[in-house]
Amino acid sequence: MNILLAEDEPKIASFLKKGLEESAYNVDWVKDGKEAIRKGLESEYDVIILDVMLPHIDGFQVCRRIRVKKLQVPILMLTALDSTEDKIKGLDAGADDYIPKPFDFEELLARLRALTRRSHVQNPEKQAAEEVISIENLVCNLSRKEVKRGGKEIKLTAREFELLVFFIKNKNHVLDRATIAAQVWDISFDTGTNVVDVYVNYLRNKIDKDFDKKLIHTRIGLGYIMSTES
Ligand code: CA
Repeated sequence: MNILLAEDEPKIASFLKKGLEESAYNVDWVKDGKEAIRKGLESEYDVIILDVMLPHIDGFQVCRRIRVKKLQVPILMLTALDSTEDKIKGLDAGADDYIPKPFDFEELLARLRALTRRSHVQNPEKQAAEEVISIENLVCNLSRKEVKRGGKEIKLTAREFELLVFFIKNKNHVLDRATIAAQVWDISFDTGTNVVDVYVNYLRNKIDKDFDKKLIHTRIGLGYIMSTES
């Protein structure tokens, strides 16, 4: 197993490198974001461990740049703070998992094992099972990012798709605007914006407008709910 480790703190990096090598991983260590992108794109790694705070280019950016070219490589982010915002930002940037610092080395090893197992399962050559979620006759294929209602394909933007997925995963629960904003947008919620309402309307126009049975309902003063019952 080959690991790319991007970490600028020499103490943490040498501790990690030593521990991982003792666990039979090969480790290439880079100290900044530029190097991480260069090595990450030029070589084949089984996992990339990426610190968020890196010189030149931060871990979120590194993650995005690598994801554009390499869809499959598992990326584990090391976040300094166990903040939801960092977590969402990391996952939005395309990370597969994250671990807050300071971390327990055994836990890190367990996460690495889980990630490499998962990536083998997801390998398309091994016929990955497609992940599908649905409500009524609306079907959302998470693997292919496809949405169909009544068998008819519906084109959504990336953000509309994320919003829909969040609704379906939480169907029959009222979701307030702050929760939706925190989960679907990687910005902290500014109460002065109506971005959630705007996007809910975009989504309604695409998935509900042409159908008798509406799936998204407004709960005045509370938020929105996705349900087959109005
Ligand atoms: Ca750092």
